[in-house]
Amino acid sequence: MYDPESPIRIRILHAGKPKQIDQAWWRARLDQTLAGRSARFDERTTGYRLINGESDGWPGLVLDRYERTFVVKLYTAAWLPRLAEIADILRAVVPIPGRTPEHLDRRSNGGSLILRLSRNIQRTAAGKFAYKDGQSLRGKEVNGPVLFKESGLRFEADVRHGQKTGFFLDQRENRRLVESLARGREVLNGFSFSGGFSLYAARGGARSVTDLDISELALTGAKRNFALNRDVAAVASCRHDTIRADAFAWLIDAPFRTFDVVILDPPSLAKRESERAAAIQAYGRLASLSIQRLGSGGILVAASCSGHVSAAEFFETVQRSARLSAKKFDVLATTQHPPDHPATFAEAHYLKCIFVRFGAGGGRGRNSR
Ligand code: SAH
Repeated sequence: MYDPESPIRIRILHAGKPKQIDQAWWRARLDQTLAGRSARFDERTTGYRLINGESDGWPGLVLDRYERTFVVKLYTAAWLPRLAEIADILRAVVPIPGRTPEHLDRRSNGGSLILRLSRNIQRTAAGKFAYKDGQSLRGKEVNGPVLFKESGLRFEADVRHGQKTGFFLDQRENRRLVESLARGREVLNGFSFSGGFSLYAARGGARSVTDLDISELALTGAKRNFALNRDVAAVASCRHDTIRADAFAWLIDAPFRTFDVVILDPPSLAKRESERAAAIQAYGRLASLSIQRLGSGGILVAASCSGHVSAAEFFETVQRSARLSAKKFDVLATTQHPPDHPATFAEAHYLKCIFVRFGAGGGRGRNSR
């Protein structure tokens, strides 16, 4: 496929013996991609990724499920000339009344397939192909938030306007880890968005969770997500605060207060290769500021979604900040991609996360691993 406006001009669908790329070919590719995908999740998780771009053989295209709403997002205009054909294929995953696709066990109600377009292709899509960001390709138009479940917690996603396809589905496994570390703790969730990590911390028994984000919209989303889970006793009894601020400025300026867990999940700080060095510096600064706000036994959870910063570089950056703090520390875990977000080549590995536990201050920095 060809996209004359993208720095990645050519997208390869197939290499090897000549093949006819027709409906049967697409259907076979879809079956191959979906095989075993939903079997990874039970009914406690109804939001997850079904197609993850290049790594699944669909360059520049992702498909996410939120309960009965499916969202296909295009990151290259190369798909636009074929979108009618592709939409026909993808419609097969969406439940329609009376017919349940194989990969969905029990639903028979109708669903929707929503189209999302990355910002850089919206003009071409509207002008040349009459496609609009957020429109429905099958089933009803979606107005308002879509409810779904992740690990038994209820969340809403703004599939029409939200970042990515409406929710950061890629952080599920890291959130689970946070839940297991949260009992009795005071948690600061930096760059909280709609409180994904926070709800897990609350259910894990955190005493308080503070969501810090620059966007008021994100914080109201977090409040609604807490409200959606009031029936979970631990969530109902967890104190939830929100702070609207620039996280860098807040960590420097806000009146001093310590936390037991600080989570940092900023947006990509290196959108292009030329921003890599500055991004690494910024990750280091964020980590250092956060470590200062950790009490004894505190845990830093630092994530990066910059494809231009490698996992090794990121983990080293956070550990350098840890050493500079002169506190003792242990790396509890480092994680990368969850199974529904496969990454089959170096550039696809954007997500990494490190969990570091700190001892009392004063001693020499140490990494016991
Ligand atoms: N951790 C979230 C996803 C974070 S996305 C989750 O699990 O769902 C990044 C978030 O950072 C967005 O909500 C964005 O509004 C916020 N953000 C961007 N720049 C910021 C800044 N300088 N200070 C605080 N928040 C910021």
